[in-house]
Amino acid sequence: MARWDCIIVGSGPAGLGAAFKLTDLKPDSKILIIDREKYSTGGLRNDCKMNFTFPIGFPLEYWEQENADYYLQQVMKILKPPVMDKYNLDIYEKRALKLHARLLTVSQAHLGTDGGLILIKQLVAELEKRGVEFSLGEEVTDIDYDRKVLVSRKREMEYGDLIIAPGRKGFKFLQDIMNRLEISYNDNIVDIGIRVETREELYPIVKDYYDPKFMFPEKVRTFCTNSNAAYVVQEKYSSHDGVEYFSVNGHAWSNPEKTNNLVNFALLKTIKLTRPVASGQKFAEILGLQANLCGGGKPIMQRVGDFRMGKRSIKDTFNSDLYNFAPTLSGCTPGDISLIMPYKIMKSIWLSMKLLDTITPGILHPSTIMYYPEIKMYANKPEFLDNHFQAKKNIYLIGDGAGTSRGITGAWASGIRAAEGIINNNN
Ligand SMILES: Cc1cc2nc3c(=O)[nH]c(=O)nc-3n(C[C@H](O)[C@H](O)[C@H](O)COP(=O)(O)OP(=O)(O)OC[C@H]3O[C@@H](n4cnc5c(N)ncnc54)[C@H](O)[C@@H]3O)c2cc1C
Repeated sequence: MARWDCIIVGSGPAGLGAAFKLTDLKPDSKILIIDREKYSTGGLRNDCKMNFTFPIGFPLEYWEQENADYYLQQVMKILKPPVMDKYNLDIYEKRALKLHARLLTVSQAHLGTDGGLILIKQLVAELEKRGVEFSLGEEVTDIDYDRKVLVSRKREMEYGDLIIAPGRKGFKFLQDIMNRLEISYNDNIVDIGIRVETREELYPIVKDYYDPKFMFPEKVRTFCTNSNAAYVVQEKYSSHDGVEYFSVNGHAWSNPEKTNNLVNFALLKTIKLTRPVASGQKFAEILGLQANLCGGGKPIMQRVGDFRMGKRSIKDTFNSDLYNFAPTLSGCTPGDISLIMPYKIMKSIWLSMKLLDTITPGILHPSTIMYYPEIKMYANKPEFLDNHFQAKKNIYLIGDGAGTSRGITGAWASGIRAAEGIINNNN
């Protein structure tokens, strides 16, 4: 059976970050990166906006400013981000403060989905040059801990150290692994909300600040803003018992031919569950399944105009002259979000919409579309043995799936931290 010093499961930013650091620290390490997708994938491939300001993307339970800044410097050295300028934010900042909200100014770069793909190819080529092997299109299914063997659908592989970085989509895979390896974890936090889509002229702040980070009362924030050539997409998830449902998301292209002058962003509320409900994932799944049930297997979309009048949206609402842009995710089902979203979440999200419309007037235009559900399950918080995200001897759990990050740069930084741990622990 073939053996590697380190096998990395997941070729997203967390896995790539770990591989770069391992090869920096120990150039002769034998490293394999496995991904179930055919292409090196993950978040670098979706819009690829990179945030370089703490705490964006860095969960506070694992990161402090000084520590995150130290790692962000290293992330920048490899990713070489073209950081964008920001303009004219004073007025928005002042208005936000008056409304007990905040606008965080964040150092950002944006490559777009097409630009992200080019970056991935460069990163993979650089790692291959350093001797790292890739196996794409291979799904990992299990770990034989006693034999230090990783099991995929194709083969068994021996490892010295194992880094598991399966991202949010690998949430269930990671939970299954943790259950089998008896690694304690909790997943009591989840973000639930909507994706807002509107015309760029109704949210012009994006011209001055690509991904404006507004923080509202009641734990609501804007997240993942896309503009210029922006599209809403749906992502398939599978519940614990194998039922599929969709959550929405967004991305943008840098290619000017795809320009549609639309903007989309998420408004998410963080929900922290306490006993007796233990699992954020199960809670979110139920909401996702309920939304998809009402949408006939699709997410729901509703125009703000209909929502304000207490009416469901219907097919015609999306064709009529009253509303002057078509949804970019046209397969969604027109409906009534207020019928499906829990009251407490709806109330906080709607309050935030009103605050946002006061800070930067426009988004409550009747034509604005709200898509539901947008669910972020990245709170699989394992109990770690050390500061390097080692959860069981020689096994490191990192990235969004393990709750050590919430974005590309944080994921990359958590990969660096795991790599440092591996080198320290082996010396
Ligand atoms: C549509 C979309 C847009 C986004 N836009 C941005 C953005 O602009 N900026 C930003 O900072 N963040 C963005 N994010 C979030 C970002 O993707 C994540 O924060 C980041 O990718 C997390 O990195 P990761 O390495 O932990 O996981 P991922 O990047 O998700 O990578 C995990 C990898 O593991 C693989 N995998 C999972 N399970 C297995 C298995 N059993 N066997 C083998 N391989 C497996 C997956 O195929 C995947 O390639 C976006 C996410 C999505 C979905």
